[in-house]
Amino acid sequence: MDKNFLLSIIIPVYNEEKSVAFLLDRLLPVIKLYRFEIIFVNDGSKDRTAAEIKKCAQKNKQIKLISFQRNFGHQMALMAGYQYSMGNCAVSLDADLQDPPEIIPAMIVKWQKGAKIVYAKRQTREVDNFFKKQTARFFYRLINFLSDTPIPSDVADYRLLDREVVDFLKHLKEHARFLRGLVAWGNYPTNYVFFKREKRIVGETHYPFSKMFNFALDGITSFSIKPLRIATYFGFTVATLGFIGIIYTLVRKFFYPQDYIIGWAGLFVGIMFLGGIQLITIGIIGEYVGKIYQEVQNRPQYLIKEKINI
Ligand code: UDP
Ligand code: MG
Repeated sequence: MDKNFLLSIIIPVYNEEKSVAFLLDRLLPVIKLYRFEIIFVNDGSKDRTAAEIKKCAQKNKQIKLISFQRNFGHQMALMAGYQYSMGNCAVSLDADLQDPPEIIPAMIVKWQKGAKIVYAKRQTREVDNFFKKQTARFFYRLINFLSDTPIPSDVADYRLLDREVVDFLKHLKEHARFLRGLVAWGNYPTNYVFFKREKRIVGETHYPFSKMFNFALDGITSFSIKPLRIATYFGFTVATLGFIGIIYTLVRKFFYPQDYIIGWAGLFVGIMFLGGIQLITIGIIGEYVGKIYQEVQNRPQYLIKEKINI
C-alpha cells in the first residue's frame, strides 16, 4: 500500500470541550501510520473547546485550528476545513465519536483502489430513536423523489473525498452548501465502508428537531425546484375543482332553486383549504426567494478569528 500521501482530517467542533481529548485518544493511534494533518474548525464555541485544541496543537504541529468569529453552522465549518486542507484526500468526521475513527484505514484502501468518494454508511440506526429513524427515512425518500441528483441515504458527513472532489467543492460559487447533495452531484466514482453509529460520547446533539427540519428544507430547496412546480399543479387542481363547483352551484340555482341554500360548513372548509394551500405555496416561493436573496447579498460564508498551525 502506498503511504506516501497526505491525509487531512477535518473536524467541525461546536461546544465540544470534553470530546476533543477523547477523540484524539482514539483518532491518533489509527492515523499515525500515515502522513496527516488534523484540522479542527471551531464553529464559534462558547466553552473551552478552542483552549483544549490549542493545548494539543502546541505539542503537535499536525493538529491545526481554525476558529470562526461566531457560529456559522456545521456545513460552513466543513467547508472551511476543505478550503484549508492540503491533503491528497480529506476525511470529515464529527467530534463526538459517533463516527468511529477505526474505519479510516478501510476508507483509505477503497480510495487507493480508485474511489473518489468513500462514504461511511450506517449499517444500523440503533442509537437513534424511532422518531429520528422515521423522519430520516421520510426525508431521504422525499429528497430523492424531488431531486434529480440521487442523494445516498444513511450517510451523513462522515466521508473521504479525493483532492479532485475537494477542489470541486472549493470552487463552487454558491453560498448555500448542502454538502451531502453537492458531493453526490458530481457523480464521482463512489464506494462505501459500513459502520455502526455509536452513541455521543459526552454532551448533547446540536441538532434538535427544528434544526433538522430547517436542514431538510435547505437540502430540498438547494437540489430541486420541483416544489414550485408542485405548487403550480396544486393551483391548477384547485382551480379546476373551483370551476366545477361554480357550474354545479349555477345548475342548482337555476334548475333546483328549492334546495339552493348550502350550509356554511362547505364554505368554511373551502376557505380554510384554499387559505392553507395559498399560504404553503407562498411559503415555498418564499424559500426560493430567500435563497436568491442570500446569494445576491454575497456575504462571506464565514469569518475567521484565528488560525493555528496553518
Ligand atoms: N457542529 C458544528 N456547528 C454547529 C453544530 C454542530 O460544528 O452549529 C459540530 C459538532 O461539534 C459535531 C458535529 O458538528 O462535531 C455534529 O453535531 P452533532 O453531534 O451535534 O449532531 P448529530 O450527530 O446529533 O446529528
Ligand atoms: Mg453527533
